[in-house]
Amino acid sequence: MYGFAGKTLNVNLTTGSVKSELLDEHLAEKFIGGMGLAGWLAYKLIDRRTAPLSPENTLILSTGPLAGTLAPACSRVHITSRSPNSGFICYTNAGHSAALMMKYAGYDCLTITGRAENPVYLKITDDDVEIRDAGHIWGRDTWESTDLLRKEAEDHWIDCIGPSGENLVNYSIILCSKRSSYNKTGAGTVMGSKNLKAIAVKGTKGIKVADPERFQKLTDEFTRGIVSDSEVKAYRAYGGSMGNRPGFSSDEFVARVVERPYACLGCPLACKHLINMKDGPYRGLTYRISHMGALIGHNGSGGPENWDELVKLVEKENLNGIEATVTAGILGYLVKCYQNSVLSESEIGYIPRKGGEAMRRLIEQTVRREGIGATAAGGMRAFVEKIGEDSEMYLNHEKWVGRQLALANEVSTYSIGSLTNPRGAKAEFVHIPIRGGDSKGLTPEEIRGFCVSLGLQMSDVSRVCSGPGTFNVGRLVKWVEDYSFAYASMGFCSREPIMRHINLEKLSQLYTAAIGIEMSPAKLLEAGERVFNVFKAFNLKMGATRIDDMPSRGAVWPREKPLTVAGEEDGSLAQILNDYYDERGWNPDGIPTKTKLDILGLQEISADL
Ligand code: SF4
Repeated sequence: MYGFAGKTLNVNLTTGSVKSELLDEHLAEKFIGGMGLAGWLAYKLIDRRTAPLSPENTLILSTGPLAGTLAPACSRVHITSRSPNSGFICYTNAGHSAALMMKYAGYDCLTITGRAENPVYLKITDDDVEIRDAGHIWGRDTWESTDLLRKEAEDHWIDCIGPSGENLVNYSIILCSKRSSYNKTGAGTVMGSKNLKAIAVKGTKGIKVADPERFQKLTDEFTRGIVSDSEVKAYRAYGGSMGNRPGFSSDEFVARVVERPYACLGCPLACKHLINMKDGPYRGLTYRISHMGALIGHNGSGGPENWDELVKLVEKENLNGIEATVTAGILGYLVKCYQNSVLSESEIGYIPRKGGEAMRRLIEQTVRREGIGATAAGGMRAFVEKIGEDSEMYLNHEKWVGRQLALANEVSTYSIGSLTNPRGAKAEFVHIPIRGGDSKGLTPEEIRGFCVSLGLQMSDVSRVCSGPGTFNVGRLVKWVEDYSFAYASMGFCSREPIMRHINLEKLSQLYTAAIGIEMSPAKLLEAGERVFNVFKAFNLKMGATRIDDMPSRGAVWPREKPLTVAGEEDGSLAQILNDYYDERGWNPDGIPTKTKLDILGLQEISADL
């Protein structure tokens, strides 16, 4: 097979079985590969009765069909499972060298089921796969564990969990060779439930593409576009727009906080940073991190007020392997519950206050499951179930995942897509490959041009491009999601300065040149739609309803009051969702119709729903 490594590795930690099987070429094509293929495997392998932390749950690692080639910024490994945090689909991705190592070891996908009797780690070196004892690193933080494993697995890429994942905190992350992380929705918790401390992987085989000359020409063109992007400098300096919030100026970041940028393998943008505090209380504190600017927002509701507090807090989160946004959201919830006499000082154990120090204290309690931390370990949903459903008004979440964006009253593809995303709180899967990626600020001509570039018929374009903001946001989101899911399934990073230098036509040409299977733009877009429907079907199988596509009670969104697009009214959220479902060919409850599933070749799902 070209592009693909050609095999899936299946590991059962209960029995110790390790088996590889040939990748089904037909399935790979139908679901593009990577995230798309993993979504289908998750749908097939995870039963509705499977509890997220039971041995039967499956953790799936997958790489895109172009990962490991010369395609720029194509370094993503996607992890898919059933989320302990939401009960719905868990999917998260991280970059750097992991995808290349997996592909070069010979695997497009890795599925892990079962539960080891004692802590173990998985060591993959090409065809040599070992389940090894991890007793000596269990209980250690992520950085120490990575350093120790590197002595036993030299040159291997190491994904590992920290004490948070071991102690089954529902929103634990997986740290990747101390460089980036798989966050949100609890992939690290699923690893912990399997007594799996780490995965170390090294591959030495290469990947061949079907038409090297054509492929090189296309990738060169793509790379040149990224390098010429006007925001490259800002991304390298501080990871893109930072917003200059009080206490977090980008000038101070450059002067005091950061040593230098660095990149995932094969990425010309280099948005990541080596942090090195030059002065202040944490002088000398150093680590690598992706998109520090975003963490200002992610931790915002917890209240770190300056770079010193944030840098120290992120260190604590990474060492313990715990997700930032949910932790911050829970601290904000405790403060509001206390202020509104829903929880007393004695119930919490202290008077909760915002700030970096308070966040660090809550992390310690949560990871050890001590005091209020025992409830916090269950996530936002655990609090609402324990304290009462009215207390949800003090939380801000989408599908029980901490909010990615501070949403304003003006709706856009980001804000609606963040709700409709099957994982919840993931706006990067509604990136329009133009300018900043969001519909906000785009001209009517740009939105119309985007619809035309997707090959929409004029009647479709008219339907999508009608409405007060010159477009119907619910209808537009459907098409942006299909495009984004096709793009992400190929393995690319979704940062705006990457995404806006390619389009559907070029993506399909890249796929064809790499894989050797003719993939027209229309076929690729339909595959993106197919993948999205599979992710949605997973959630429906797990009991999701229309209400799960609405914001939480604590969100600032009025559900029935008219919302605005570009300054004009666009109907209530309920109306926007109706339009979105209609555009998707789903019924008003958000369930794909049989006709739609049959068109997409998803008859198996049609029979299930
Ligand atoms: S843009 Fe940043 S996160 Fe994306 S591939 Fe490049 S370095 Fe990695």
